[in-house]
Amino acid sequence: MPTTPSITISTVASNFLRSIIQHDLNAHTYVTRTWGGKPDLVTTNNLTVQDTYPVRLRFPPEPNGYLHIGHAKSICLNFGLARDFGGVCHLRFDDTNPEKESIEFENSIIDAVNWLGFSYGTHLYYASDYFSAMHACAVYLIEQNLAYVDEQTAEDIRINRGDFTTPGTNSPYRNRTIAENLARFADMTAGKLADGAAILRAKIDMASANINLRDPAIYRIRHINHHRHKQIGDWCVYPMYTFAHPIEDALENITHSICTLEFEDQRPFYDWLLNNLAIGGLINTPPPRQYEFARLNLTYVVTSKRKLAQLVNERYVHGWDDPRLPTLVGLRRRGYTPEALHLFCERIGVTKADSWINYSTLEGALRDTLDPIAARAMAVLNPIKLIITNFAKDTVEPCSAPVHPHDESRGRRDFEFSHELWIEADDFQIAPIKGYHRLYPPINGISGGRVRLKYGFVIECTGFEQDDSGNIIVVYAQYFADSKSGSITSGNYKVKGVIGWVSSHDALSAQINLYDRLFNEAHPGVNSKHFLQDLNPHSLTRVSGYVEPSLKNIIAGSHFQFERLGYFVTDCVEHTTDTLVFNRVVSLKDSWKSV
Ligand code: ATP
Ligand code: MG
Repeated sequence: MPTTPSITISTVASNFLRSIIQHDLNAHTYVTRTWGGKPDLVTTNNLTVQDTYPVRLRFPPEPNGYLHIGHAKSICLNFGLARDFGGVCHLRFDDTNPEKESIEFENSIIDAVNWLGFSYGTHLYYASDYFSAMHACAVYLIEQNLAYVDEQTAEDIRINRGDFTTPGTNSPYRNRTIAENLARFADMTAGKLADGAAILRAKIDMASANINLRDPAIYRIRHINHHRHKQIGDWCVYPMYTFAHPIEDALENITHSICTLEFEDQRPFYDWLLNNLAIGGLINTPPPRQYEFARLNLTYVVTSKRKLAQLVNERYVHGWDDPRLPTLVGLRRRGYTPEALHLFCERIGVTKADSWINYSTLEGALRDTLDPIAARAMAVLNPIKLIITNFAKDTVEPCSAPVHPHDESRGRRDFEFSHELWIEADDFQIAPIKGYHRLYPPINGISGGRVRLKYGFVIECTGFEQDDSGNIIVVYAQYFADSKSGSITSGNYKVKGVIGWVSSHDALSAQINLYDRLFNEAHPGVNSKHFLQDLNPHSLTRVSGYVEPSLKNIIAGSHFQFERLGYFVTDCVEHTTDTLVFNRVVSLKDSWKSV
């Protein structure tokens, strides 16, 4: 892939999180943070967070899948705020759930953050590195009579939790002594109990109106190796996400912990836990605060990792980087640029109101960022042959066009006009419909259709040839020698149609992947039984076409605007200088209804 240009678009649009951070900066909220806490938790976990950034944020993905466009919103938000306030943003793998996580996913996440143009410097962290600190925090809670080992069955725990209208019921294990809890938790940790035989629960309030405070589980037993602890094979108890996450934030001295709205109900537990750990001197104070924003919902795609995994694993698409997926690797292969995603995130803003964003907004940001940079080229995607009957077979006429119409400094591209050309099949009609201004044959003494070949000559259709099945195989035309674009006499020719073309002798064959939306429905699965029912069967059409000779030797990942056709990119996996493979990034105009 070519290196991407540096990002100049800044996310300076105002949002409520910006105001909160500014307020904390003015009030010196985190500058007075007491350092020291219980230093062994920080030092034994190899944290380099003793520097004094006034704003410290984090992007905390779980490495259980490839990142998607929603994560791009979170990355641009966290890294963007850190950059704008002179702070730092950590990349932290929230890898506390060993069943689903892998190094492949971790590497893809690092690539995605780098590709978006952000840097975490030395601040790359793994929640699994804090397992011993988290365990110490759990033991501390037990010692304070704030946690207990529950050995009810999972079913009983579920029933006894109650629901929105019924308070929960205390577990028969809730009043175990501290010593007994410590011993049982030690047994769990030592692997003496089977998976699911016991859990450690925070002791809060089984009657709380917030179900998340009804003695939430904080540690569970899993006899499974963690991918980063394989050699050691040391853990068979793992912290629950809701317990682990606040501790991770606190250990890293995060100031503002920004997450999506579904965690709003977890905030009281976040605060309960950190306030208790702060009292015990296990973490620095003031502890981080959690703030929520609305996650990105985009029409015509799915952004659930589970659904994306299903599309990949059941082969509805060709892998995580399939250009139809909203994964960042897919979008990148489709031809999306970091600049387009930054502009998109800037345009959609950050709010607390859940809403759907039109897919067209994403495509609009793409067009607006590609238009100024994409080189122009001519291509014919559905070719038919055009013979210029009055142009000699053994000669050629040089033609040229600007690489970019608004930037002369990018020079010109050269190609040749000749006896035999390729044009788009739909630039010819045997019986032209009303208002059709391109090529059609002469009929009843009325001359054939006249068009300008873009950057070339004006031609007039003189006839056509069909095969036995009625397919048009050749269109015939004559050219006007004094009509060449740019010549003094070209202005004498007034034509209503301009069409693209390439010469058959110098055009390059290319495979072109015409991508369309993966789903036919704006909200896949909402009005149908299953989101898979809404798949668009025509989301990929592969065609063999021709492109102009200036595209010889182009490298993978190069963007072009094929004149009149749309934006295209050379595929970063299949394209080579011998086999040209283009992906359609987006059409020139929005042809979808705005939903
Ligand atoms: P899961 O549902 O499997 O937890 P997730 O999409 O929440 O998946 P994480 O890896 O936990 O994935 O996400 C990392 C960060 O990205 C989190 O802070 C999360 O809030 C944020 N994020 C995930 N999806 C979106 C989205 N659609 N819009 C904005 N932020 C998102
Ligand atoms: Mg998550």
